[in-house]
Amino acid sequence: MNSPCTDLEPAAPARARVAPLVDPFGRKISYIRVSVTDRCDFRCIYCMAEDMVFLPKRDVLTLEELDRVCSAFVARGTRKLRITGGEPLVRRNIMSLFKALSRHVGTGDLDEVTLTTNGSQLETYAEELVRYGVRRINVSLDTRERDKFRAITRRGDLDRVMAGIDAAQKAGLRVKINMVALKGVNEREIIPMIAWAHGRGMDLTLIEVMPLGAINAERIDQYLPLDKVRAEIARHFRLRDLDYRSGGPARYVEVEETGGRLGFITPLTHNFCESCNRVRITCTGTLYMCLGQEDCVDLRTPLRAAANDELLEAAIEAAIARKPKGHDFVIDRAHAEPALKRHMSVTGG
Ligand code: SAM
Repeated sequence: MNSPCTDLEPAAPARARVAPLVDPFGRKISYIRVSVTDRCDFRCIYCMAEDMVFLPKRDVLTLEELDRVCSAFVARGTRKLRITGGEPLVRRNIMSLFKALSRHVGTGDLDEVTLTTNGSQLETYAEELVRYGVRRINVSLDTRERDKFRAITRRGDLDRVMAGIDAAQKAGLRVKINMVALKGVNEREIIPMIAWAHGRGMDLTLIEVMPLGAINAERIDQYLPLDKVRAEIARHFRLRDLDYRSGGPARYVEVEETGGRLGFITPLTHNFCESCNRVRITCTGTLYMCLGQEDCVDLRTPLRAAANDELLEAAIEAAIARKPKGHDFVIDRAHAEPALKRHMSVTGG
């Protein structure tokens, strides 16, 4: 099934020949993650509150504005772009953004456009994503048990997500599964999830729950350190450390019995800031130079102030000059408040 996709007005072509963006610690910024909406059809217990209040439409960048911001980064050396949310595929006419961005892959200015999704809309969009040059996607899936899935997502339909994963693989997308490790919730499903994902030719990445946003639950009760998980997995499988990097913070092992890759994203047990090459843009055009810090720069005002990109480019340059060395997430009883007030659905996971 295809969506009606209205084309965007093409923004000025990227000019990747100018100097790349380099932060004060010599890290080249080559990866942006862009949240295209704060809305989501799920309310995952560790991500959102049940009664989330979403942003008014006027605050959210239009698809044309999102294209302009992304293109401005591509012009300054961004090689990889991940579209995220909220749930990116619930945004109306979102395929027009993928279509517009695919021109940068066509010119060789961008290596890839990827997507992080909860999978609920993939049956509708998988083929179109492939048509617009997307080659691999991340699908978030914390459990394969129907009732538990509904409890974690507060409203998701597991069968629909599974059908979405089938459709994505059928369309030729490489799928990686992201699973947030939740103490007492899905701990026992990690071993079966490895076997299932690898059995279908999909990598699996485990993620530690991060202290972002007020969610009406005690984060300490959800937090499961991945070094403990890894030790448990190693009782079932032989794990071999890999040098492989997907351009993100995950560290990978090969599971010898399945031949598949298993990633660990451990912002809490291991800080991965020294190799950070990314920044994040929210759907309102706020640029966060670090997922784990509050400092941010407003790109929407310069975007809306002029039809050309001079102000926007200057704002981006000034922001990167302020990228911090790293974050300092802590989860323990003495830190009951979220480390950061904004939700992952705002910054984009
Ligand atoms: N809706 C899309 C999805 O489900 O993948 C994209 C946005 S979602 C915020 C991106 C990822 O962030 C998901 O894998 C989700 O599980 C993860 N996530 C959300 N809140 C988190 C938290 N507090 N700690 C760790 N991961 C989180």
